[in-house]
Amino acid sequence: MTEALISDGPVARIPAVNLSSPLTMEGNDVADAISGESEGDPTLNNMIAIENLRLWYGEHQALHGITMNIRERYVTAFIGPSGCGKSTLLRCVNRMNDRIADCRIQGRVSLDGMDIYEPKVDVVRLRTRVGMVFQKPNPFPKTIYENIAFAPRIHGVAQKGSEMDELVETCLRRAGLWDEVKDKLQQPGTALSGGQQQRLCIARTIAVRPDVILMDEPCSALDPIATAKIEELIDELKNEFTIVIVTHNMQQAARVSDYTAFFYLGALVEYQDTNTMFTSPHKTQTEDYITGRFG
Ligand code: ADP
Ligand code: MG
Repeated sequence: MTEALISDGPVARIPAVNLSSPLTMEGNDVADAISGESEGDPTLNNMIAIENLRLWYGEHQALHGITMNIRERYVTAFIGPSGCGKSTLLRCVNRMNDRIADCRIQGRVSLDGMDIYEPKVDVVRLRTRVGMVFQKPNPFPKTIYENIAFAPRIHGVAQKGSEMDELVETCLRRAGLWDEVKDKLQQPGTALSGGQQQRLCIARTIAVRPDVILMDEPCSALDPIATAKIEELIDELKNEFTIVIVTHNMQQAARVSDYTAFFYLGALVEYQDTNTMFTSPHKTQTEDYITGRFG
């Protein structure tokens, strides 16, 4: 199937594959993606497949034919200078761009083999499978408890009473926040510190058991200690979720991600396992960017 990368480092388990090769119906990638977890190695699944994706805001073309696969239960980082389309691409994966008037897309984005732009797709459900965490923590103006309980109640994941209490506790524990908030679950989420609010938003996202968590510069409003906590959390959550993180911070990409994609002017320039990307990038443009020559 695919060769394992020979290395003693922490990236040894990453399969060396051509991540930006087009997905074809005959390809192993598709076979892996639909074979389910019982057969083969589930770490080789492509959770997200993006094929020749183009996007326009009015007359302005922001994405120029992006083709890439995103591996299930790994962390993939999007890097590149401001305005190169990282957020735009991220928003395509849960159809957040639908909300922008004048935004038009061509191409295909699939989640676990399902074309998410098909008319029959329920966008609200899609967004429970593909959750999003933003740059600025945005807890609901509700209690800490309700921040977690709200969506599971609506989507029927859990109802009330002890079942909900358990879910709230589990999510807060998984987000590394339980010990800090267990005595004030009825206080407003917005009263927490920025870093705690961001962990609350992550707890809220995992409460509906998504497949994918999209994070758009989730630490850029946080101090280094709060950032370190989020990075630890990402490392833990990838055992269960597929995570895509946009970051301005090259060290952060190197620390938290398994794969890194470098974008420039709306195009995917290079996509590698993170170790290769930061030690021996194949393109001069990538090297110039990661060594700080532009950006
Ligand atoms: P990045 O996240 O890499 O900084 P963005 O995806 O935000 O880049 O932006 C890519 C390009 O699309 C930029 O030229 C930006 O000005 C434009 N753009 C982003 N959002 C909108 C929008 N809502 N309406 C019009 N243009 C937009
Ligand atoms: Mg952005």
